[in-house]
Amino acid sequence: MFDVNQIVAELLCKLRKIIEPGLTTFELDKIAEDFCHTHKAKPAFKGYRGFPSSICVSLNEEVVHGIPSRKRKLFKGDIVSIDFGVCKNGFYGDSAITVPVDVVSIDNQKLISVTEDSLFLAIHEVKVGNRISDISRVVQEHVQKNGFSVVRQFVGHGIGKSLHEAPEIPNFVQSGNSPRLLAGMVLAIEPMVNIGTHNVSVLKDGWTVITGDKKCSAHFEHTVAVTVDGPLILSSQTAFV
Ligand code: MG
Ligand code: MG
Repeated sequence: MFDVNQIVAELLCKLRKIIEPGLTTFELDKIAEDFCHTHKAKPAFKGYRGFPSSICVSLNEEVVHGIPSRKRKLFKGDIVSIDFGVCKNGFYGDSAITVPVDVVSIDNQKLISVTEDSLFLAIHEVKVGNRISDISRVVQEHVQKNGFSVVRQFVGHGIGKSLHEAPEIPNFVQSGNSPRLLAGMVLAIEPMVNIGTHNVSVLKDGWTVITGDKKCSAHFEHTVAVTVDGPLILSSQTAFV
């Protein structure tokens, strides 16, 4: 599963570097689609329950599942979340980043860094014997300590031969016991963090999730394997930076 996730990581790294005002979200999708073709990988989201594109691009108050469009341009000050998944040789990879477009507000900078930090705190909890709720707890605590909220309607997931497998990985603590982490499990951990309310709704396009108060939202995701030696970040971008 390392190889498929490295395809995801390389593309996200590539997009991160070219993000600038004036680009359309369609152009980002085209690059992702061509990249899949070059790597003989299948874009995992395209056709998934009818989703039309290879990447999800969600700007500002959009939380997740934004649909790329020729009409949607990036502007200075926007924050753009890109979620990308691929399938190759029967295995799936899934990862997401949120990137500032040129200079962004201090609030949005903080939102991005708190969200990314919460993901890495979560990854630190990926140890044999811990529970899913240990992951949920550190995300929720870090986010709320910084005055933001975690989305509840969408959660992380197991991943492997399917894009979405058990267990669910919420970014908030639920009552009751959650599953224990076992060596060999692979998890897509994905904090979705809002500046304001945790409430979200879906636009008329049937996909784009937006915040209830139109304040900004950020999203980071890594696919992580549970090993006896601790977490292994399969979608790590370090080889491409
Ligand atoms: Mg994803
Ligand atoms: Mg995911």
